[in-house]
Amino acid sequence: MKNYSSKRIMVTGGAGFLGSHLCEKLLNERHEVICVDNFYTGRRANIAHLASNPYFEVIRHDITFPLYAEVDEIYNLACPASPIHYQFDPVQTTKTSVHGAINMLGLAKRIKAKILQASTSEVYGDPTVHPQQESYWGNVNPIGIRSCYDEGKRCAETLFFDYHRQHQLRIKVARIFNTYGPRMHPNDGRVVSNFVMQSLRDEEITVYGEGSQTRSFCYVEDLVDGLVRLMNSPDDFTGPVNLGNPVEFTILELAEKVVAMTGSKSKISFKPLPSDDPRQRQPDINLAKEKLGWSPDIKLEEGLVKTIEYFQGFIA
Ligand code: NAD
Ligand code: UDP
Ligand code: UDP
Repeated sequence: MKNYSSKRIMVTGGAGFLGSHLCEKLLNERHEVICVDNFYTGRRANIAHLASNPYFEVIRHDITFPLYAEVDEIYNLACPASPIHYQFDPVQTTKTSVHGAINMLGLAKRIKAKILQASTSEVYGDPTVHPQQESYWGNVNPIGIRSCYDEGKRCAETLFFDYHRQHQLRIKVARIFNTYGPRMHPNDGRVVSNFVMQSLRDEEITVYGEGSQTRSFCYVEDLVDGLVRLMNSPDDFTGPVNLGNPVEFTILELAEKVVAMTGSKSKISFKPLPSDDPRQRQPDINLAKEKLGWSPDIKLEEGLVKTIEYFQGFIA
């Protein structure tokens, strides 16, 4: 049954890892959901369980092209997120962030929809301030191999704030830190999926560099809850706001944890560190706590149990 307060909500990138969880949550809250995706890194399997819901609709579309629809809210998540995927066709990555943002903002402007941007901790680059607060402007290489993603996302933030100032659009900008969980692509090269798949197959665990670089890992359910809270926050709160888990681990600690939890025979092997790989990353989430009443609940071990269970389904 539909909720009388239900909205029609568009999720771009809705067939991806985060997007599919977001579509599911919004449907559970009795909203109508339109998933827009070109299936570049997203998969039908991520949303197959939603297909029979009469309030769920899928449009195959590349957001670098204009799109006409009538909705109340737009969550703009479309963009490949793993380094392997976003570096495969870097020009398309920038187009998705920049042209895609222009089209989605143009759409939001025409229909007066509220629009949320999935930005990223990558806007801080290799940070010289630790932990990272929203007021920090970042340390980003404009011409490196990560730049298509980092600078694309930075330009998208600029566009969001200019549409807000120039056209009074209601905007929300979330800076998402490393998030993991079921429905991550098993071959996307991100650290959690790599280590879990390698451990389950008893293959060598590929730690880049000495593994002393740090990341803070947020479980997908916590993250998606933060995105919805942000969308529902008062109009005068635009962000940018950090969403992530502030508990920081070295990559070596993560590798050891995954090996222990899977009971794997895998050995750790050290590989070259990719260029511009940030040395440390940890969100300061005080703003999210204050404005959204949000902080993550799920500990890494707890989230890893569910993630390992999911990836076991890919092991022949
Ligand atoms: P993902 O690759 O699983 O999902 C991205 C989705 O966008 C895919 O379904 C893909 O097919 C779709 N897409 C890509 N280009 C498109 C285009 N031009 N038009 C339409 N659809 C397109 O990645 P994810 O981890 O779910 O990330 C979702 C969003 O969150 C991204 O914008 C990403 O930058 C951001 N983010 C994610 C993380 C994380 O740790 N997962 C961290 C920071 C930011
Ligand atoms: N746009 C869209 N859907 C809409 C309205 C606009 O995709 O419903 C696209 C449009 O093609 C344009 C972009 O959004 O390229 C920016 O629109 P805006 O109105 O801000 O700028 P303009 O059309 O004046 O360039
Ligand atoms: N990493 C690693 N081994 C892998 C994949 C990644 O050591 O098999 C490291 C990578 O160098 C980085 C961290 O893990 O320091 C997180 O990488 P990921 O690609 O998941 O995300 P991002 O670098 O965008 O935070």
